[in-house]
Parts: sequence; structure tokens; C-alpha cells
Amino acid sequence: MNLYSLTLHELQTKLRKREISSQELTEAVFQRISATEDRVHAFITLCHDTALREAKRADERLGREKESVPLLGIPIALKDIFLTREVLTTCGSKILGNFIPPYDGTTVKKLKGAGAVIVGKTNLDEFAMGSSTENSAFFVTRNPWSLERVPGGSSGGSAAAVAADQCVAALGTDTGGSIRQPAACCGIVGLKPTYGRVSRFGIIAYASSLDQVGPMTKDVMDSALMLEAIAGHDPSDSTSINAPVPPFSRYLDGDVKGLRVGIPKEYFIPGMQPEVEQAVKEGLRTLERNGIETEEISLPHTEYAVAGYYLVATAEASSNLARYDGMKYGLRVPGTDLGGTYMKTREQGFGPEVKRRIMLGTYALSAGYYDAYYLKAQKVRALIKKDFEDAFKTCDAIITPTSPTTAFKIGEKTQDPLQMYLSDIFTISVNLAGLPGLSVPCGFDSDGLPIGMQIVGKHLDEATILRIAYAYEQATDWHKRKPSL
Ligand code: GLN
Repeated sequence: MNLYSLTLHELQTKLRKREISSQELTEAVFQRISATEDRVHAFITLCHDTALREAKRADERLGREKESVPLLGIPIALKDIFLTREVLTTCGSKILGNFIPPYDGTTVKKLKGAGAVIVGKTNLDEFAMGSSTENSAFFVTRNPWSLERVPGGSSGGSAAAVAADQCVAALGTDTGGSIRQPAACCGIVGLKPTYGRVSRFGIIAYASSLDQVGPMTKDVMDSALMLEAIAGHDPSDSTSINAPVPPFSRYLDGDVKGLRVGIPKEYFIPGMQPEVEQAVKEGLRTLERNGIETEEISLPHTEYAVAGYYLVATAEASSNLARYDGMKYGLRVPGTDLGGTYMKTREQGFGPEVKRRIMLGTYALSAGYYDAYYLKAQKVRALIKKDFEDAFKTCDAIITPTSPTTAFKIGEKTQDPLQMYLSDIFTISVNLAGLPGLSVPCGFDSDGLPIGMQIVGKHLDEATILRIAYAYEQATDWHKRKPSL
């Protein structure tokens, strides 16, 4: 077995027993990147030299420290939306094409504190707007399972890197599905924690009331370990929740017998790929055999989620992206006067999808239309949240497909933004409600493409969805399959 193909928890054990060194492991990971990156294109920036220095330090600590440091010596990739001190951070945009942050964001600090080795920064849809990574200003990342297909998005680079064994684990962000949908498309585990569970300080904002950081990993145990390392209150993020962080990895093998799972009827819709529906239903039967009780439920306002999301998200984006004006950081294209410089910088710096969303959001917030669009969308959001609250009166978790289809072909949806927006139809409501959601591999379609099952939990109850996902994983071996790159 190659070192790069092992899971985080397997490697953790080997590192602690000193059977391997972090330097060996990090070298193996970079060799794997060299062997595959010309086909996958997952990374915008690689940090080879600093990674090896970090690995060397980790090895010294492994020899010295008695207390176990959770991620000590583990190579991890970051979506290029995380601010990293002295390392280029583009957010997939030309407007930040030369931006080198002077500090690390909170999650990056925590990873480094936990001993992680940062491998590099992964590709994404520009400002995390998209579902295919095709909106990156730089290049398209390919799905390791089928190179002519997208890896999903917007955290497509992180998902592809984990699936291709180019890192041991990665971080992504999820505003409407950007961790879970690419995880499903690439056959890995993706977890979006409860809104506020993980700090947003030092991640580039898209839609601040929806954005959340989360792990993208090879299996559920790794997801729990990563969440433990990054979760927790942060005074630098005013929306961060001050609640204890349970030792998720220690709760995983708890009994799932008697847990009640709701299956919302609105999530099995005409037009979805039949093989996705079959795989998820088969997954539910596997869980039932493990003692989980399932019942059909209704989340009646589901049909308004996509429309509501694209008003709230674009409204917040139009405000968040106002800061890119060529003055403070990033690209500056000089005009004849100040206004001209603003205009030219934004004209040339932003790609078409970002401009579309700034226009949509600005329109939705403008005087006269605010009540009709933005306020209405906030009301829809409240109703969707209430749907979940009602459902969780009788259920411990909710299970749905992660995405209506498996990975589509590169170019298939780029001309039709509405079709692209529908890729997130099953994940978006979870962000609107601020709940935790996880995608776990649950099968393959007839083209050999991975399928994901989404498990949604109560507010701050990542422990239960991780436990269900772990029980499912123990009963199946979908997560063990690897693409033949
Ligand atoms: N695809 C959705 C969008 O484009 C979600 C993206 C995300 O979660 N960042 O907004």
C-alpha cells in the first residue's frame, strides 16, 4: 500500500508509532501530485518547500512530545479561499491573482497548531460561485473518476485532490453545497458543520450568513478528526457559536439502533438520475438493517429554496464584493480618474458569473425592490428553517440524495446558469437553515461515477450524523474504492 493512499487515522497511528516519518509521507504525497496533477489540475499553488520544512518540524515534535497532537505531520490541502500568510490566495479570481495575505485565518492557524503540513491551495469556482469549478479564472479541475467530467464545485479542487490521493485530507467551504456536492461527485466524505461551528475569520466571504468551513476526507473517521481540530468559538468571528466541541471521533461507534431518520418526499423528484435515487434508497435499507428506523416526512417549502437562496446569497455577495476596488489589495487597472479605476479594475478583474451575481444582488437590494425580493427571500428562509424544526421534533436526522445527478461533462451546463444552479437543489436548504449536513459515498452509476447520500442533522448535532455515516460506512465499502488514475 502506498503511503499517500492511506487515511488520516491510519497515518496518525503510523506516525505516532514512528513507523513512518512525516517527511517520508509528505514526499510520497508530492510524488503522487507530480504523477497525477497534469491530468487532475486540482492545485492553484503548491507549497512543496514549506511543506517539507513543516514535515521536518513535525518529525522533531513526534520524537519529543508525549501529548498527542491531533494532525501532527499530516499533509492537508486548503481551498484557495483560506487566507494563508505569505502564500498566494486568489479565491479563483483574477482580481486577487496577485494577493498574498499578511496573516493566517483562524482555521489555518488551528491546523498549523495541530501540526498539519500544508500541501497547497486548491482550485475553486471564482469566489465560490458555482457547482463545477469551471468558473475558476485559471483552469478547470477534472474529476479523477472521469477526466472529461467536472469534480463538482465550488470546492472542486479540494474534492479532486482528496479523491486522487494528492493530500490526506482537505478543507472546503460550503455556502449552498460546495463541500457536499463535490464530495458526492468525487466519491469522498464532505461535511458542512452547523453555521457558526467553525470560524469564518480569514476565509474570503461570499455570502456571510451561509458560508461555513468544513472537512473533505477519505472516510468518516477522518471527517470527525478534522472537525475536532477546526471547530470551536472564535472571538474574531461575531457569528461563531460559543458551545463545547465534543470529541466526535470517540462517539462514532455508538449504537445507531432506534435512531429515527426522516426521508423528505420533496427530495425524490422527477428528473433526477434514477441510479442516484436507487443508490440512496438502497443505502436507507442498509441503515434499516442496522436498526435505524426510517419514516417519510415532508419539508413543504423545499420548492422555494433555490429561488430564496439565489436572492439571499447574491444580495450578500454584492455587498461583500464591493471591497474589491483596486485600492486595498489585488488587481488595479488604472483609469483616468478614481471612478474609472474602480470600473476598469472590476470590469477586468471579475469573471462573468461573479458579475451576474453582483448585478442580481444589487438589484434585489435596491430601493423599491428590496421588499419584493430580498425581504421575501428572508421570509422563505424562515419558513424553510421552520420546516426542519418541525421535522426534527420526530426525527434524529434526515437523509436525502446529495445531488440529483452524478458528475456531468465539462461544458455541459456552462451556457445555462439555471441548470447549474439546480445541482445544489438538495443541499441549499441546509445552509438556509444553518444545519449540519454530510455527504457519504453510497454507490456508483453505470458510468462508474460516485453517488453521495446526504445526512442532515439538528443544530449543533454533528455527532449524530457522523455516527450514522460511520455505521453506514462500516456496512459498505464504497469509500474504499479508488479512481484508476
Ligand atoms: N453552487 C452554489 C452557488 O453557486 C453553492 C456554492 C457554494 O456553496 N459556495 O452559489
